[in-house]
Amino acid sequence: TATKETHAFQTEVKQLLDLMIHSLYSNKEIFLRELISNASDAADKLRFEATTDDALFEGDSDLNVFIDIDKENRTITIRDNGIGMSRDEVIANIGTIARSGTKEFFGQLSGDQEKDAHLIGQFGVGFYSSFLVADKVTLTTRRAGLEHEHGVRWESAGDGEYDLDTVEKAERGTEIILHLREEASEYLDDWKLKSIIHKYADHIPFPIRMMGTPAAAEEGEEVKPAEIETVNQASALWTRPKSELTDEDYNNFYKHIGHDFEDPLARLHQKLEGKYEYSLLLYLPKRAPFDLWQLEAKHGVKLYVRRVFIMEANEDLLPRYLRFVRGVMDTNDLPLNVSREILQKSPAMEAMKKGATKRVLSMLEDMAKNAGTADESDEINTDYADFWSEFGNCIKEGIIEDAANRDKISSLLRFATTQSDEQSVSLSEYVSRMQEGQDTIYYITAESLAAAKHSPHLEVFRKKGIEVVLLHDRIDEWLTSHLTEFDGKKLQSISKGELDLSNIGENAAEEKKEQEEKAKAAGPAVEKIKEALGDKVKDVRTTDRLTESPACLVSDQFDMSSNMERILKQAGQ
Ligand code: ADP
Ligand code: MG
Repeated sequence: TATKETHAFQTEVKQLLDLMIHSLYSNKEIFLRELISNASDAADKLRFEATTDDALFEGDSDLNVFIDIDKENRTITIRDNGIGMSRDEVIANIGTIARSGTKEFFGQLSGDQEKDAHLIGQFGVGFYSSFLVADKVTLTTRRAGLEHEHGVRWESAGDGEYDLDTVEKAERGTEIILHLREEASEYLDDWKLKSIIHKYADHIPFPIRMMGTPAAAEEGEEVKPAEIETVNQASALWTRPKSELTDEDYNNFYKHIGHDFEDPLARLHQKLEGKYEYSLLLYLPKRAPFDLWQLEAKHGVKLYVRRVFIMEANEDLLPRYLRFVRGVMDTNDLPLNVSREILQKSPAMEAMKKGATKRVLSMLEDMAKNAGTADESDEINTDYADFWSEFGNCIKEGIIEDAANRDKISSLLRFATTQSDEQSVSLSEYVSRMQEGQDTIYYITAESLAAAKHSPHLEVFRKKGIEVVLLHDRIDEWLTSHLTEFDGKKLQSISKGELDLSNIGENAAEEKKEQEEKAKAAGPAVEKIKEALGDKVKDVRTTDRLTESPACLVSDQFDMSSNMERILKQAGQ
């Protein structure tokens, strides 16, 4: 019983389509990358489901993508024999944006083509990019395992509506026919398509096939019919030796797996052999993904077992604070056909997580070490500074979240101080500049850099030439409650508790004596002020903190800082 229906796109889809066609105008060729990437995801899913249900292969386990050009009808067809979709799945996946964060996404669009293209890529508009080159798209699909008569046809001109029909489809999988727009005729050329496939899909571990170009016939010879050829390399990139791979190979793979238009900032490719054997190919993006600060932010590492895709990894594979890392982990030491729950609790997973975390932190340490040095072409290396400005606050989360690696992580921290407005000073750099007799790292937390810099608490530190760390990110309050020591030096807030700076500096002894005399003289005045303020304060003290301001408020050492009070108030607590 065929049922033809017309559905309306979700409002957001319509908006996204309009926007995409405008902002990706000069980047049309990505439609092919996106459709191939979907076909490859569909093959991954089938292979994974088939590990527990071999019947899903329906006797055909040669997973591949076939691309066909029809010049006369001006169509390109992209056909896969992956998992396919049921009618419900088509409705849920095509014509809807199920992802959370859609609103934030629209909020972030700037109108700047390059920036928006980057965001759109991250958001994964995937399938809709078909409309960059097509004015009509026909998708026919059948889910593996369903009867032939449960095929589905989806068709749309990208104008806000789509038709849905139930059809007969003998082969499982998905076929997409793009009816090309006039201005997209260049894609009817097979050389053009092949070059795009090389650019974006060489590393896809499934063959992408096309009809070969027929060889020119010699005089008198018969024209040989064209043969099917595999266009891409079709081997999992991370399994190939480093020596065979170029920067371009690595970067293209990153763009595929990271949904990014830009090259990555850094990468890590390692094969680890010990108790457990696994490969890592991990990347740091140049820019933070749009959902980095959302609670349900996507993790970007994929888990493979013997080259079979198992799952998008989450906290089980890398800690939450490293959620910006993109890439692949592949192991031989996990069984293919067990539940995710069992996988997640396996010692092999745990070992991989530990190893990968360590290696990412080491990569960051190396980047930090090389920061500011010049390479052969005299270009100053700013990778770590760039990294810090995008992901520094994640690293601070690491201090809180990952006690086992706290020492390593604390050496990655960079702060603004009274000597640098930029967040560029490491704690060891601070320590190397400490004054004679100073055994404490001093910091102040405030709402903004300006507020921190102009705090009256800093007066005496300026006078004595003691550097103070200026903390002004929201997370810093939590950071300092977990990071209480570095390199044997205590961290202390200068707006909390008693401050004893009397042993610091060249004239320490004289200053101390002077201060004691002053305190004695002020005794009666302090008593009067205490009486006058009554319950409003805990205590009134003389201080050597101030040089210009007459008085300041100080929290008790173990009380909340005033900045923390402010944050909690804002949060409604
Ligand atoms: P994304 O790939 O980021 O999820 P897309 O717009 O590219 O976004 O695809 C949306 C969804 O449609 C996919 O997640 C998948 O469920 C489904 N889909 C798209 N193409 C295919 C395909 N060739 N085979 C099976 N499912 C597909
Ligand atoms: Mg996709």
